[in-house]
Amino acid sequence: MSCDNLISNLASCNCSYEPCGRKGKCCQCLVYHQRLGELPACYFSAAQEKTFDRSISYFIKCNH
Ligand code: SF4
Repeated sequence: MSCDNLISNLASCNCSYEPCGRKGKCCQCLVYHQRLGELPACYFSAAQEKTFDRSISYFIKCNH
């Protein structure tokens, strides 16, 4: 299924994990990380995101 918002989503996506096929497909990205008990890259700063730690505990640590 194609996404009407793919181009604009990609323009604001900060995820640096290049192999991922979910980039710009925010609904898939969110569900994927939600199932793992995680948050998408866009919840993190650029430096935090580059750790690839998407855990909620890391998010809380960063925003404590
Ligand atoms: S945050 Fe996760 S699912 Fe979303 S584009 Fe990046 S690696 Fe893929």
